[in-house]
Amino acid sequence: MKTRSISGLSFVFVLLFSSSWAASAQNHEDFLQCLSLHSQNSTSISQVIYTPNNSSYLPILQFSIQNLRFMSSDTPKPTVIVTPLHESQIPTVIKCSRTHGMQIRVRSGGHDYEGLSYVSELPFVILDMINFKSITVDTETSTAWVQSGSTVEAAEMILSPYGGKMDEISEYAIPFPHRAGNLYKIQHLVYWEEEGEMAAERHISWIRRLYSYMAPYVSKFPRAAYINYRDFDVGVNKQGNTSHAQASIWGTKYFKNNFNRLVKVKTMVDPGNFFRNEQSIPPISLWRKKKGD
Ligand SMILES: Cc1cc2nc3c(=O)[nH]c(=O)nc-3n(C[C@H](O)[C@H](O)[C@H](O)COP(=O)(O)OP(=O)(O)OC[C@H]3O[C@@H](n4cnc5c(N)ncnc54)[C@H](O)[C@@H]3O)c2cc1C
Repeated sequence: MKTRSISGLSFVFVLLFSSSWAASAQNHEDFLQCLSLHSQNSTSISQVIYTPNNSSYLPILQFSIQNLRFMSSDTPKPTVIVTPLHESQIPTVIKCSRTHGMQIRVRSGGHDYEGLSYVSELPFVILDMINFKSITVDTETSTAWVQSGSTVEAAEMILSPYGGKMDEISEYAIPFPHRAGNLYKIQHLVYWEEEGEMAAERHISWIRRLYSYMAPYVSKFPRAAYINYRDFDVGVNKQGNTSHAQASIWGTKYFKNNFNRLVKVKTMVDPGNFFRNEQSIPPISLWRKKKGD
């Protein structure tokens, strides 16, 4: 599976260049210094940091890339990859990224269809949860705690039947709302092995046509989408800080009315919108400020 490209739809100045390169190199050095300065144990943090100078940098980066479209040499690469061994190492990475103007991309299994967990147009750090793999099952409470870096191989289900238990769970119980009243969840998926941009365009165009063709037969106003089948075609945030209206375009497709509840949670926990990507929930504070409220 890893050897194929995937697209899912419901998927100069020389002077300027060299000065921005120098600034980014400096940022990178400052970021590394910050990590060792603020870590309780600077030796242990240094063992989980990978920069392009390390021979392990590329293997670590590529290990969890599930979509070969994002393996190309022109895909933006992280300045640093950090693979924490313990939760206590994570706050330092977040703090230093924030201080030194780096975006964070958190990666667990790297299955994101749009590569959100390991690609960013802005200088970025990958916080890779690869070492968090434990699974604890408690039979007494019938619960299981699965750390986010755990992966299992599963058979593909392209047309997933709903109904049954799904019909009994309120659409407000958790962010995922598409339960009662749904017959199937459809995954529009295309794999290809042929290399090159033209092959990619051809396959993506084909899956887009299939997606359009299905429109009369599926949910409407909005046409629902499943967050795990990440798809930038359903809408993306504006660069930087997006508006609520802009984010609602994709947000209501994934979350229906739960989108507004998620906006409230985001506003409480990350009012400055530090953790953001092309489809991250925006906090209210930012767009209010922009409107001058
Ligand atoms: C081959 C394949 C088959 C699939 N089959 C199914 C399927 O049958 N059913 C289904 O529901 N989905 C399926 N998916 C989709 C998959 O479930 C989603 O892409 C899911 O997000 C993958 O999780 P991950 O940890 O591997 O992804 P990642 O790419 O690591 O992360 C996904 C998103 O979550 C963020 N993130 C990761 N870890 C954390 C963390 N610890 N804290 C906060 N944010 C975090 C990332 O930054 C990114 O935005 C499939 C994907 C692929 C490639």
